Amino acid sequence: MVSQPDKIAWNIFDQRLHNLMMEFEDYHNAIEANAIVNADTIKELSMLTNIDESSLREIIKEVEEMVEGKRQDDFGRDFTGKPKLSAPYYAVKVTGALFHTQGGLVVNENARVMDKKGNTLPNLFAGGGSARGISGPADWGYMAGNGLLTATTFGRLAGSAAAKLIVEFS
Ligand SMILES: Cc1cc2nc3c(=O)[nH]c(=O)nc-3n(C[C@H](O)[C@H](O)[C@H](O)COP(=O)(O)OP(=O)(O)OC[C@H]3O[C@@H](n4cnc5c(N)ncnc54)[C@H](O)[C@@H]3O)c2cc1C
Repeated sequence: MVSQPDKIAWNIFDQRLHNLMMEFEDYHNAIEANAIVNADTIKELSMLTNIDESSLREIIKEVEEMVEGKRQDDFGRDFTGKPKLSAPYYAVKVTGALFHTQGGLVVNENARVMDKKGNTLPNLFAGGGSARGISGPADWGYMAGNGLLTATTFGRLAGSAAAKLIVEFS
């Protein structure tokens, strides 16, 4: 997406996902900010998003073919058996940004960074986005709240452990 000329894309979804998203305050804020586009037809959606109508119809058809298992997604995603989009349609303009990281430096229970052999490195601590959390190495392991969870808890653990080290050396 960020390699596109304007670095933007449109996420297109339907009533089913709109209803699901209504449970989130962020989504209500997006509606209030007029960021969510709502259209009864593909033609109307193309006008509201300024996407060429035939291109829009083509991509919706391609995704339907992926749902039916007749086509592979260029990005390796698997849409097989997912519900097809149906009117009314919704869309939101999006861009790429760093949300959080998974993986990272391996730390022990005191947030001390370990080397490949499992030994602690001297005076080096990590937590939050720098340390490996509990979400696994890829997007499949994403757990809501884990970014802030590991930032705050490992921050405290690192602070306590570093303070103890100073006391030991003084
Ligand atoms: C839009 C968005 C929504 C999110 N929602 C959630 C959520 O709902 N739940 C959840 O758990 N996680 C969420 N996250 C992820 C979460 O915010 C991060 O995982 C978490 O903030 C990481 O904490 P951190 O302390 O490691 O890093 P950061 O919060 O990035 O803190 C690093 C700090 O270091 C400062 N800094 C950088 N370089 C230097 C320097 N050279 N000198 C001094 N200071 C420096 C930065 O300015 C920053 O303040 C969200 C992230 C984003 C972007």
